[in-house]
Amino acid sequence: MLPPIEEFFDEIKDLWESKVLTNMGKKHNLFEKKLVEYLKTPFVSLFANGHLSLECALEVLKLKGEIITTPYTFISTSNSIVRSGSKPIFCDIDRNTFNIDTTKIEELITPNTCAIMPVHTYGNICNVDHIQEIAEKNHIKVVYDAAHAFGETYKGIPVGNFGDLSIFSFHATKVFNTIEGGAISFSDEKLKKPFRDVKNFGITGPETADYIGGNAKLNEFQASMGLCNLRYISREIQKRKKLSDYYRSLLKDIEGIFLNPLEPEVESNYSYFPIVFKDYKKSRDQVFNDFEKNNIFTRKYFYPLTKNYRCYQEYRTHSTPVAEEISKNVITLPLHSDLTYEDIDRICNILK
Ligand SMILES: *Cc1c(COP(=O)(O)O)cnc(C)c1O
Repeated sequence: MLPPIEEFFDEIKDLWESKVLTNMGKKHNLFEKKLVEYLKTPFVSLFANGHLSLECALEVLKLKGEIITTPYTFISTSNSIVRSGSKPIFCDIDRNTFNIDTTKIEELITPNTCAIMPVHTYGNICNVDHIQEIAEKNHIKVVYDAAHAFGETYKGIPVGNFGDLSIFSFHATKVFNTIEGGAISFSDEKLKKPFRDVKNFGITGPETADYIGGNAKLNEFQASMGLCNLRYISREIQKRKKLSDYYRSLLKDIEGIFLNPLEPEVESNYSYFPIVFKDYKKSRDQVFNDFEKNNIFTRKYFYPLTKNYRCYQEYRTHSTPVAEEISKNVITLPLHSDLTYEDIDRICNILK
């Protein structure tokens, strides 16, 4: 999503006067405030991207040990765990939502478990109530990777309010973008300062540093893009909803094609449209290639599972048969607000 170009020019004009291009300037602070309003969470801290939000979250919460997560996600999720010195323990996923199967979490908990890192995959909301119950019972933290879930609500509760914190990604490919960017939403006010320090070298004044931090600041151009795009996000989601509904109406009764059931009590952002083949007349890879021949670019998302990348060899400690099966049979269909109903007709006809 891009805002009208004049609007972006207008937004960045003052940067030529202030000459403040980064280091938590006016645009950054305004954007942070607007996000608190939009996400309806007590606090938001901005970061250079979603991945660094995850790494900084684990660092600030001092999580070290085993972290239970899903293999059915973008590689960033488990990379953040390993890069922070922890060990990912891969839990299988639920057949309907493709999210972590909460009935299988407790059997993976050991004395070394410090947290659960679930992902709201495709914007499908996790079983947050069950996850909270498990976390409280076992005294472990919950860090949500909400990279796909910007703007969603569950039972009327905005998504950034679950667990100890949630991270969002504003990468160019996401529903809402700041070119690159990310944020952490949280409710514990005591985390405000450590998040500010961790992303700015730990510098607290001209001659003071309280913490050995890194650099993960969101700059003024990214914040300007965010301020512009935030004005269009509701329209964007509305358009996506209509397109998703149309896809669903055309594909719902086809033998061998499985669609995620619409989750009750979830207000979705319709970020992706995954379909899974089961005993379909063609294999997933055949369908993918047929689409490509017709200049339609679908994605094998998520394939492979993160645990099946070579660099995760030593972490394949538990089997995750449902995740394996979904991953081998899934594609996500094109979905963006410039897509037309005619495009969707064409895509579905090729599929059929
Ligand atoms: C995009 C994404 C990330 C990483 O976000 P970036 O902003 O690209 O660094 C993390 N987790 C998931 C599930 C994602 O889709």
